[in-house]
Amino acid sequence: MITHFHLDHYGLAGRVKELSGARLYLHEREAHLVRFRYQTPEGFWARMQAWLRQHGAPEAELERLGDGAMTRPVTRAALPDVVLRGGEELAADGRRFRVIFTPGHSPGHVCLYSEAEEILIAGDHVLPTITPNVSLHPDGAENPLGEYLESLRAVAELRVRLVLPAHEYTFGDLPRRVREILEHHAERNRQIIGTIKDRPRTAYEVASLIPWNLGPWETFTAWTRRMALMETLAHLRYLESTGQVRSAAENGIVYWQAGP
Ligand SMILES: [Zn+2]
Ligand SMILES: [Zn+2]
Repeated sequence: MITHFHLDHYGLAGRVKELSGARLYLHEREAHLVRFRYQTPEGFWARMQAWLRQHGAPEAELERLGDGAMTRPVTRAALPDVVLRGGEELAADGRRFRVIFTPGHSPGHVCLYSEAEEILIAGDHVLPTITPNVSLHPDGAENPLGEYLESLRAVAELRVRLVLPAHEYTFGDLPRRVREILEHHAERNRQIIGTIKDRPRTAYEVASLIPWNLGPWETFTAWTRRMALMETLAHLRYLESTGQVRSAAENGIVYWQAGP
């Protein structure tokens, strides 16, 4: 059972399946991304470059922004034997788990929940100190941050005494961690709106103006800038969906401005 298709979770799934004969469980949206991103990645980077250009990435950075480092390591991209949609009951070693559809960090991210033991296997949905990355992709969900905030609030409603995340360490107080992450995104939204109150800007400009805990924008690698741009775009798309921001294209470049 793979929580989502990112390389650090799914990367060896094909090998493990081959060596063990295990059946692979994955959400249907992730199965689509495996096909699209790992099995037939040829057109993906060209589309990604065009899309980044549209959002203001400078020409000199586009070559490096769009390299294939993200897809190259998957040599045996296996498709799921069992396609998940959320809500399924799975049994393993005497335990029962419910599949909870938690889109946002990835379009088809799922968690596993044991009601009897009050345990949540959280994947990358909720991590104890890292804020899970939520990015807009040219081939991803329409409004990933909107989906993320909704599925984040949903897991806070579950009775959970122990969270088993995929990174860092286990923790107990899920509602508190959910509140912290919600507050982080609210703060990000305020910062982003602040940069486009008086004039329209591209998402790339907005990303270069807001604070990042990695240090100043000038020191970022092309790869980090691309990640920051896609995270910023997830916020802008979310703010557009709530009517706080609007976008307009001019000569093929998209500009964002605060206001309905
Ligand atoms: Zn991930
Ligand atoms: Zn991860």
